[in-house]
Amino acid sequence: TKRLDGKIAVVTAAGQGIGRAIAQMFHDEGAQVYASDIDAAKLEKAPFKDIRSLDVTNTGAVQDYAAQVGAIDILVNVAGYVHHGSVLDCDEDAWDRSFDINVKSMHRTIKAFLPDMIERASAKGTSGSIINLSSGASSLKGAPNRYAYGSTKAAVIGLTKSVAVDFIQQNIRCNAICPGTVHSPSWEERVGELGKSLGSYEEAHAQFVARQPMGRVGTADEIAALALYLAEDASAFTTGTAMPIDGGWTL
Ligand code: NAD
Repeated sequence: TKRLDGKIAVVTAAGQGIGRAIAQMFHDEGAQVYASDIDAAKLEKAPFKDIRSLDVTNTGAVQDYAAQVGAIDILVNVAGYVHHGSVLDCDEDAWDRSFDINVKSMHRTIKAFLPDMIERASAKGTSGSIINLSSGASSLKGAPNRYAYGSTKAAVIGLTKSVAVDFIQQNIRCNAICPGTVHSPSWEERVGELGKSLGSYEEAHAQFVARQPMGRVGTADEIAALALYLAEDASAFTTGTAMPIDGGWTL
């Protein structure tokens, strides 16, 4: 038997990075995976049960998608956007865009999927699991030049606890994952950009690694392994948590 046999999972932003690793690990562990990304081309040839384009900032599209997919056991909200800079660099558009992609997206998907999740959980006698990607840069820690991003990821923790407490009696669990720096395509881009201002990619890479007490960045598979635990029945007693997984960054 596999750890997610009989489970149906939805993963947003599954085209690359952490979302892709989660979708792949859930698939390998026997789940039926509905994988989406704003850029569906990134999911071409992926082995999942269902692949499609979904922009999590589009309320109507999220509602249609949930109506088509129906009842699920696991919802993983991965989509995220990193705005670089302090409060002085953040105009209202950047603030609104950050909250739309990073927080309101979760409001949309949870609101759309939850009613059928509750029904399925009570029919099966197991819990439904909602997993939200937050970050160490949140209420856990202030990170330089992550003003809007850190604000949104703190909001994700509040949203997570609010959902957890409201639906604990209906067999729905909701947890947040708070990664430190993780190797992903968008992280590579951030290193590249910092490298331009510092003069070399290697220097930028070294700066990112230097803030990790463990001396390395994480892998998407390491984050997926925690998502897998939060998704499966082994974690049935765990809800409302915000779990750091960060090589000691928030220590
Ligand atoms: P990434 O940034 O490399 O990829 C993000 C994916 O999201 C892309 O495939 C992109 O097409 C998709 N996407 C962007 N806007 C979207 C939208 N509106 N609707 C649907 N999909 C959209 O991924 P990552 O670095 O692995 O990050 C994944 C999540 O983990 C994010 O929420 C991020 O904030 C969080 N996180 C990442 C790190 C890290 O160091 N990589 C650290 C902490 C938290």
